[in-house]
Amino acid sequence: MTKQKNREYKKSRKKPHHSKKQNSKQSSPQGNRKNEKSQGKPNTTDKHQRGKKRVTIEVTCSGLTSEGKGIIQWKGKQLEVANLLPGETAEVFVSKKGRFFNTELKRVINTSEDRANLPRLSYNEGVGCQIQHMNEQAQKRFKQNIIDELMKPFGKPEPIITMEHPYDYRNKNVMTFGMNKKRQIISGLYAENTHQIIPMERSIIHDPKADEIIQTIKGMMKSFKMQPYNEDNGRGFLRHVLVRVGKKSGEIMVVLVAASPMFKGKNNFVKALRKAHPEITTILLNVNKRNDSMVLGNQEKVLFGKGTITDTLCGLEFEISAKSFYQINPVQTEKLYTKAIEMAELTGEETVVDAYCGIGTIGLVASQQAGKVIGVELNKDAVRDAIRNSKRNGVKNARFYQGDAGEFMVQMAEHGEDVDVVFMDPPRSGSDEAFLSSLVKLKPKRVVYVSCNPETQARDLKYLVKYGYKVGEIQPVDMFPQTVHVESVAKLELK
Ligand code: SAH
Repeated sequence: MTKQKNREYKKSRKKPHHSKKQNSKQSSPQGNRKNEKSQGKPNTTDKHQRGKKRVTIEVTCSGLTSEGKGIIQWKGKQLEVANLLPGETAEVFVSKKGRFFNTELKRVINTSEDRANLPRLSYNEGVGCQIQHMNEQAQKRFKQNIIDELMKPFGKPEPIITMEHPYDYRNKNVMTFGMNKKRQIISGLYAENTHQIIPMERSIIHDPKADEIIQTIKGMMKSFKMQPYNEDNGRGFLRHVLVRVGKKSGEIMVVLVAASPMFKGKNNFVKALRKAHPEITTILLNVNKRNDSMVLGNQEKVLFGKGTITDTLCGLEFEISAKSFYQINPVQTEKLYTKAIEMAELTGEETVVDAYCGIGTIGLVASQQAGKVIGVELNKDAVRDAIRNSKRNGVKNARFYQGDAGEFMVQMAEHGEDVDVVFMDPPRSGSDEAFLSSLVKLKPKRVVYVSCNPETQARDLKYLVKYGYKVGEIQPVDMFPQTVHVESVAKLELK
């Protein structure tokens, strides 16, 4: 059972924070409609988890945190409860662990109109989907509020662009392998802020075929004597399986991430996997000996096929390597890119920089309406993909460089280059001082800032506004339905 940690605090709500590993487990989401209220009186006390005491309290939820958790008051403290909605009265387990309080929803007593009508969850389908218990309208309101609040200093954002079928959208699934106490092989996702694997067979946001392939691999392991890796003693072989699906091309890549390059019986394994899933177009072995939370290591070997998959976005074909970044929701990505390129107001003459360009997607789509495009990206494999992708699509006016985007911009500024438009799409941590200070020296007419973390986007916008830009349109896009994450694109113009 997943516990939600609550820091003991009484004041304002926690600052918006979106961690990559936001996992929470759905527990007893459906309640019956009764209208009882009480202010956090303990109902019962029981022994739970190696004798630790927990109490059951009945409470009414007063609001939501930016992580989608319900806020409750108990004994003068503000606590957070996953899967609980404002206005709902519920029974909640509370236990204390050090300075923290763990909470867990036991039962909803009166259900909010915002609650999604979920089917009974037979697997641990809630992991990673922090707000799947909210219906579509409630999710839309929740995300709009986050963006509206953060962007207040810059103007009023447009209504968020939602997804018509907000399920099965992820084109990349990664599952971690391990062993449970009964020494059975399990695959799933880490519980929030831990390295404890919550077994998961199916998620409502994963590509169904990708989930199926991972289950097949799990089922094959015993007969191939393939051991899951054990983080504690460093023994075993298989750490993760990553499946990437070209949603339009139908191509499928399977990456077996192992602790060692010694893959006994690999030919038979590959043969059996291909027999079970003839739709797989390439299989790779990736070796990761590290002890951090990165899934992929540097060493890679193609076991079958060409080692990459292709997919189509905005009418162009893209080749994607295992280690390259590629947007995980292609349906919404097309809407995002279309909006970003519209904001750039290109006429066919401009010199355009695509910073943090990944495999070159934004720059290559924009190149059709620009004079020339210069892309910069840190990841070597992604840059190689970007160069291949410009050739594949017959693009002649785009160049891609490998390096730190900040350093690259510093050099451009030192050389006094002429740049008309900059697209920037940094990772969650946002951009840095080197990049931003050079950007304002280069003085492009327009900057289009695409972000998967509106908090760091707001921080960087503040800098750009201070140094001569004004923020125009701000367009949130729901790239990650059922989760707390939200994408946003902002247009900036030189004052
Ligand atoms: N624009 C692309 C990729 C966006 S994700 C797309 O839409 O697909 C952010 C990208 O920034 C990743 O590809 C990551 O490898 C890259 N990146 C991270 N830090 C960087 C840095 N310091 N300099 C350049 N690129 C960086």
